[in-house]
Amino acid sequence: MLIVAGNQCPVFNSPCREISIELHCCYNYVGDVMKDPVLVLNANFQPINVTSMYRAINLVLSDKATLILNGRGVIRTVSQIFLMPSVIRLNHMVKRPRPVVKLTRKEIFRRDRFTCQYCGRQTTDLTIDHIIPRHLGGKTQWENVVSACPRCNHLKGGLTPEQSGMVPIKPPKCPPNTATYLFGKHLNHHNEWENFLSGW
Ligand SMILES: [Zn+2]
Repeated sequence: MLIVAGNQCPVFNSPCREISIELHCCYNYVGDVMKDPVLVLNANFQPINVTSMYRAINLVLSDKATLILNGRGVIRTVSQIFLMPSVIRLNHMVKRPRPVVKLTRKEIFRRDRFTCQYCGRQTTDLTIDHIIPRHLGGKTQWENVVSACPRCNHLKGGLTPEQSGMVPIKPPKCPPNTATYLFGKHLNHHNEWENFLSGW
């Protein structure tokens, strides 16, 4: 992949000269590659975030982070070669609360392994069911929401488990906030992260 510095930058409408501008150009040229996820470790190697390739290269170039694992090749410009990191480590420890799994539709489906919690069917055609319906005061929290196929959701309607006789297969709970779980959704495509995630 050859990115030519000196080309007209479509962002700044001027020739690429500086690294940041060059990277803006790269971004336009290589698009999706610059959005690739990169695992960010704290200075003590604790995984704390997943960022984009674009941001990761900038962190390394500005001496805020060090490349720990490459494995994705390079971006070449006329004057420089940028390694494309897969894992970077911050040079200074940042204090931040341990990340938690955000309560989103996608994360509820992932927790439930894309399985309807009433009929046990595995499908990507899922809805969210409030076990205690919202109109009866049921809250949107991990313990009160489950994945349900449209048919089961329709059958249960606005009823409680007692009224409908429909009880989730597994009592729902908040997923673990281990690094393997938090960032595990990337492991299919980035199994090289596994060693960096286990144990945290
Ligand atoms: Zn179902």
